[in-house]
Amino acid sequence: MRPYEHLIVDIPDYPKPGVVFKDVTPALADAQAFSAVVDDLSEHFMGRGVTKVVGAEARGFMVGSAVAYRLGAGFVPARKPGKLPRATISESYDLEYGSDALEVHADAFTPDDVVIVIDDLIATGGTAVAMARLVERSGAKLAGLGFFMELAFLNPRPLLADVTDAEVFSLIRVE
Ligand code: 5GP
Repeated sequence: MRPYEHLIVDIPDYPKPGVVFKDVTPALADAQAFSAVVDDLSEHFMGRGVTKVVGAEARGFMVGSAVAYRLGAGFVPARKPGKLPRATISESYDLEYGSDALEVHADAFTPDDVVIVIDDLIATGGTAVAMARLVERSGAKLAGLGFFMELAFLNPRPLLADVTDAEVFSLIRVE
């Protein structure tokens, strides 16, 4: 077992009945576990010339910005509509519990950028697909997508494969 796996807490019936939410915050709050999560994700993508990491609010910021720092890359926040102050590009997506949209600043990526998507968790894949599209629409290279946890039983990979052939890497897969 990886040194952070035991710190993920199952929350039954959150945010609605029938859903078991994976609470990763105890693993982020533990100093050793947090650095192991960040190191394991960063090491996987090291040496690939990554220039930027994109992560979705809010838990994607926590893991993504730390990975960006470790890789010597910049961090681009993907935010809910209306939160960014300058011109944006936007992608809507289906959530496990509803639908929403994510935006990045229109000049956040350039065609010279090598970008990875980092998030705490991939469930249906909708959030990751939106970020992948935002990267690819800007002409940047999407080098991969990394997750602390993958709810593999929700089968997110085929959705991602429809929009990108970039590698998908997860530290923990829940079958
Ligand atoms: P997806 O779009 O893949 O269905 O959902 C992934 C997004 O929703 C991620 O940004 C993630 O933070 C959040 N999310 C969905 N389900 C869970 C869960 O069980 N635990 C956590 N920590 N985040 C979740």
